[in-house]
Amino acid sequence: GFNCGIVGLPNVGKSTLFNALTQTAAAQAANYPFCTIEPNVGRVAVPDPRLDKLCAIAKSQKEIPTQLEFVDIAGLVRGASKGEGLGNQFLANIREVDAIVHVLRCFEDDDIKHVEDSVDPVRDAEIIETELMLADLDSLERRVVALEKKAKGGDKDAKAQVEVMMPILAALRDGKPARTVAFDSEDERRIAKQLGLLTIKPVVYACNVEEASAADGNALSAKVAEMAAREGNSSVVISAAIEAEVAQLSSDEERAEFLETLGLSETGLTRVIRAGYDLLHLITFFTVGPKEARAWTVPKGAKAPQAAGVIHTDFEKGFIRAETISYDDFIACNGEAGAKETGKMRLEGKEYVVQDGDIFHFRFNV
Ligand code: GDP
Repeated sequence: GFNCGIVGLPNVGKSTLFNALTQTAAAQAANYPFCTIEPNVGRVAVPDPRLDKLCAIAKSQKEIPTQLEFVDIAGLVRGASKGEGLGNQFLANIREVDAIVHVLRCFEDDDIKHVEDSVDPVRDAEIIETELMLADLDSLERRVVALEKKAKGGDKDAKAQVEVMMPILAALRDGKPARTVAFDSEDERRIAKQLGLLTIKPVVYACNVEEASAADGNALSAKVAEMAAREGNSSVVISAAIEAEVAQLSSDEERAEFLETLGLSETGLTRVIRAGYDLLHLITFFTVGPKEARAWTVPKGAKAPQAAGVIHTDFEKGFIRAETISYDDFIACNGEAGAKETGKMRLEGKEYVVQDGDIFHFRFNV
């Protein structure tokens, strides 16, 4: 699976957000399988209204959404790259996630101490980014000299690695994260990914605002949005306090009603989950039958056999073809039978690139 690490300075609302996520996951656990929760890991359903429609049309007995994992990463403070706080532990945890949800405190509350003594989310974002950049710089500088020697000695892999490291080192020394370095070739991008850098991971800022600003954000979250736009990152507004309250409610109706009174159409959690999904360049395909309508996740660009492999490794090994109906055709033809009759079901082979919303039946040899 794919996962997002929740990071941020102390007292910005990370745990409140994470607990809301896991409570939501726990509430879902009755309906959906595989929602096992570890202390700092929560797996939540990715909300997708398309799945409801498919399920209704196909009259499937149940609906199984695809999931995304969140990891609560506590302990970052200024100086983490030098081992302050839980510095090293924290950095090791970030190394293992695919993307970062960076929670920023955008609410004023004199009762809740800010580690930097004032509320300034843009500064906070810079503190964390700086720690991550220092850690990356340190890690590359420790490796590059030995690699250069190997490269001079004729080691081709070392040479390729050095060529990718150099522009990243230059960026980091210039105070820019590794993700700002663009590589032309797929090979270079793969090598860059394998360097184990923290600032190469995609990031979304989650602006934790006071309850009254949950719908539209506030002046502080607007500043974060500006910063994110400058950096080419995205940001979402949430109220961790509201999320905590919503997570306590037991039925969908109660939740919808509560959100409506606050002028919200969906929870902030939903926005965070979607942002994480987009950040990871993930797309959804579906399998639809009388037993279940189910959503599955693949990276953008995945080919049909890889999608089959998400369901079962045997499906990938013995892949023959994928009977494919696009989401829009499925809806327009009112289901599989209609799509078949009107010639909207395609037979796709090994090289077919999965499109978001595809509905598949895989044919395979056992
Ligand atoms: P963490 O250290 O980042 O995990 O932060 P916590 O989630 O533990 O939150 C720190 C404190 O801030 C707790 O007392 C929360 O109840 C409080 N808090 C979190 N979000 C909000 C918010 O949106 N508004 C207010 N007023 N307090 C909040």
